[in-house]
Amino acid sequence: MSEHCIFCDILNKKAPADIVYEDDLVIVFKDIRPQAPVHLLVVPHKHIRSINELADEDRNLVAHMIFVGKEQARQNNINKSGYNLLFNVESGGGQVIFHLHLHLIGGYVR
Ligand code: 5GP
Ligand code: ZN
Repeated sequence: MSEHCIFCDILNKKAPADIVYEDDLVIVFKDIRPQAPVHLLVVPHKHIRSINELADEDRNLVAHMIFVGKEQARQNNINKSGYNLLFNVESGGGQVIFHLHLHLIGGYVR
């Protein structure tokens, strides 16, 4: 990979982050500019640019990301109140970090 990637740096522990979970496939850390009381990013170890670049072999990885998001929602006690699981895709979709990530956003008082 030629372009510098901040999420790869976080994965490789070359940049700091508030990491809340990690396994063989993904890491989860707090968003640096939270949009809600709970705002976590579920990030695969594998550097994939965006949803557009997913290959057939990534199906289990994406499913795992969603299940990790679900479990983090439960652990953060927002599963009952509700939350968003969100992929921004490419610039027009609001993506600014081009390493695949799933936003878990919740904990609003409504
Ligand atoms: P995107 O718009 O690409 O879907 O979301 C990227 C997210 O990453 C944004 O919500 C932004 O606040 C977050 N972010 C960007 N740089 C960093 C960083 O260095 N550390 C952490 N923890 N979050 C970051
Ligand atoms: Zn990366």
